[in-house]
Amino acid sequence: MSGINEAVVLDALKGVKDPSKGEDIVALGMVSGLIVKDGNVGFAIEVDPRQGEAMEPLRKAAEKAVYDLAGVTSVTAVLTAERAPQGGAAPAQQAAPGRTSAPASGPGGAMIPGIRSIVAVASGKGGVGKSTVTANLALALARLGLKVGVLDADIYGPSQPRMLGISGRPTSPDGKTLDPMENYGIKCMSMGFLVAEDTPMIWRGPMVQSALQQMLRDVDWGELDVLVVDMPPGTGDAQLTMAQQVPLSGAVIVSTPQDIALLDARKGLNMFRKVDVPVLGIIENMSVFVCPNCGHESHIFSHGGARREADKLGMEFLGEIPLDIEIRETSDDGRPVTVSKPDTPNAQVFLAIAKRVWEKVSAQSGAGRQAPKIVMQ
Ligand code: ADP
Repeated sequence: MSGINEAVVLDALKGVKDPSKGEDIVALGMVSGLIVKDGNVGFAIEVDPRQGEAMEPLRKAAEKAVYDLAGVTSVTAVLTAERAPQGGAAPAQQAAPGRTSAPASGPGGAMIPGIRSIVAVASGKGGVGKSTVTANLALALARLGLKVGVLDADIYGPSQPRMLGISGRPTSPDGKTLDPMENYGIKCMSMGFLVAEDTPMIWRGPMVQSALQQMLRDVDWGELDVLVVDMPPGTGDAQLTMAQQVPLSGAVIVSTPQDIALLDARKGLNMFRKVDVPVLGIIENMSVFVCPNCGHESHIFSHGGARREADKLGMEFLGEIPLDIEIRETSDDGRPVTVSKPDTPNAQVFLAIAKRVWEKVSAQSGAGRQAPKIVMQ
């Protein structure tokens, strides 16, 4: 028992004064978005956008005040600022980089207001369960109490609307930004909402990039702790450019046991290395076969190979998801196990993976993280 809760954290933050106002940051109403989870603490400090960098010592002092509490294992404090009231194309939100996860910053350093971290879910090829994992991972992150969004960047075969059980079209109340769709408490944007699922789409490179940028920046995501991106399958140029264009905090690679043996995971790892995005780990999907009749587990593909391969590549092995008809039926039916059968072993596997992913995202140093650069080799 860590004994850490929101009240204890707020109490500690009452000892931190805004020097320009002479009062503590809690009394001034500057603390928002406080999350306390198993000793990991995250919160935002609202500041005047014009003060920006000048408030960095205050942010550090707030982090230290909380970090000094017994039972706290990590602290993420970020500076945020309200949008300029008159609006305009470029939101006037500002934030200074945090010790841990800074708000997502985009190409050229442009911020994505309100989005604290972005995690890509990628795979070496299609059909390995990347979308299924994305949906369940996102829902599991939400179960941890986080504000979660899903960006379906798999524009060649968008499946998040179906997996998350969302239909209809997003609306734009102001004619400029789209409201994301929502179900099970998470927000979602997908090309699948805008184009009929059975319409074949021929995308040209620039169209892909602008569609992605629009789904990222012209959607009113609001405040998100984490945006989970369902990447298009593969590790080619299109995926590389995409990984470079989205200010990713990290990536997870989904692979089946036989693909791991075929070194697909290595391709994914190399792709993210090129764009300087940390790989949070690998998830082995369709790992063991659980017989729907008797519950017997058979290891169709060699078991343990993924873990060994991940070790060899210096990647964390985040967990293994069984090949189970329950997973297929529920996700294809718009009610993924994580929400429809939250107490089953399958849902628990996703929950454990989500915990670890969030631990890594929030503990990872985001200081000064800017647009990833392509490294020529
Ligand atoms: P991808 O996004 O990699 O193309 P999908 O997530 O669409 O793959 O999964 C392909 C098919 O496999 C879907 O019908 C999905 O329900 C099913 N599937 C994915 N993971 C599992 C699993 N662990 N057990 C059973 N079926 C699965």
